[in-house]
Amino acid sequence: MDIQTNPNGSDSGTFAGTVVSVSQGRCKIQNGQIYDGILPKNLTLRQQSELAVGDEVISRQVDRAFCRVEKVLPRRTVLSRKDPKAPHIERIIAANIDIVVVVVSIKEPPLRLKLIDRYLVAVSAGGAKPLLCVNKIDLVHANGRRQAEDALRPYRDQGVPVAFCSAETGQGMEELKRLLSGNLCVFSGHSGVGKSSLLHALDPGSNPAVDAVRKGDRKGRHTTTASALYELADGLRVIDTPGVREFGLSRIEPSELKSYFSEFDAYATGCRFANCSHLEEPGCRVRLAVRDGLIPRARYASYRRLMGEEDAPPPAENQNPETGFRCAHCGNTVLAEGAGSSHRNHCPRCLWSLHLDNRPGDRAACCGGLMEPVAVWVREKGEWAVIHRCKECGAMASNRIAADDNETLLLSIAVRPLSMPAFSLERL
Ligand code: GDP
Ligand code: ZN
Repeated sequence: MDIQTNPNGSDSGTFAGTVVSVSQGRCKIQNGQIYDGILPKNLTLRQQSELAVGDEVISRQVDRAFCRVEKVLPRRTVLSRKDPKAPHIERIIAANIDIVVVVVSIKEPPLRLKLIDRYLVAVSAGGAKPLLCVNKIDLVHANGRRQAEDALRPYRDQGVPVAFCSAETGQGMEELKRLLSGNLCVFSGHSGVGKSSLLHALDPGSNPAVDAVRKGDRKGRHTTTASALYELADGLRVIDTPGVREFGLSRIEPSELKSYFSEFDAYATGCRFANCSHLEEPGCRVRLAVRDGLIPRARYASYRRLMGEEDAPPPAENQNPETGFRCAHCGNTVLAEGAGSSHRNHCPRCLWSLHLDNRPGDRAACCGGLMEPVAVWVREKGEWAVIHRCKECGAMASNRIAADDNETLLLSIAVRPLSMPAFSLERL
């Protein structure tokens, strides 16, 4: 133990230790032995923002079992979230963690990429490394696993390790242990994905400290609301806190989000609007960079999901399933019912479209520019489609015509080459 003798000659001194549990006004500090830590008033009041499990603290020994916490040392990393009731206050959930294990399952509950995106942003903000743990693989067949691997590949490509395992059958658990051993970790993820089961599977043996706190059912379900650090086998240390388990469901401010997508920065300076959200503004260079493959599509898709653009028909204020949309070119109000599909891509009156799409990738359409109808294309079985060309970026896209599209205008576009022939028609 690293006790310095007190200058006044008493037998109590100060020492550095790790906070291994925090509960109302109290904490436990480990330094060879476990001390009951007494918190000074200012720390008690601001406990959750000032002291967390994993913190390294300087304490003054009071007697054999008690010490008084004097100072919290600077943190290497944190996992924090905003107080849902007071968003300006940052609540530290865990400190000095090496790895945040983001636990997901493919089935029961289903894989939710948006939740993963949120966790990854928060983890990166706090400086720890993320690891994606896909649990319950015993519930899916080879095909389901392959689909999950495809869905998660973009994360792997970003350098996030992905481990497939089953707390139930033990499959993949050795690999998970190998990835985590020697690190201080927290497990977080949606409830029901198997976090408690994984902790139990990682440490099935006797760990009195763990058992005392986890006096739940045989599966190791937690019944406590306290946060604690557990020493498991193989040098793996795990912080378990109720805060971590709820974490990730709090909101991330849109304005804050952009800063976590640093690969946008080089292009964002070229956007027409300085405060461009890169979602639908015209003149957005970020979307052009996505289109041109300079920014990974999967990263942009994560960004859109986090900005709440996942399922909304584009653009949010311009079109909605109940009221249709207002044409950005002619101002016509387009009702949804005439459309014949869940959303339409052009105005039936002027036939203009917006170069925008829900999901980057399906039409490679994401610059936000206005698209002029430039030609008619006759597809298989005589079906007509309008070919649009973006005024902004020049990209072309085709769009099936609807029953209520402006027929006169369609015909005039179709015959336009005849009215402006490139050679003399008399020659024919
Ligand atoms: P937590 O809310 O994330 O802590 O999830 P739990 O550990 O409480 O697990 C939720 C449920 O999923 C429980 O009924 C577990 O028995 C079950 N479960 C956990 N891991 C697995 C697994 O790998 N395979 C299967 N089939 N079920 C699992
Ligand atoms: Zn932009």
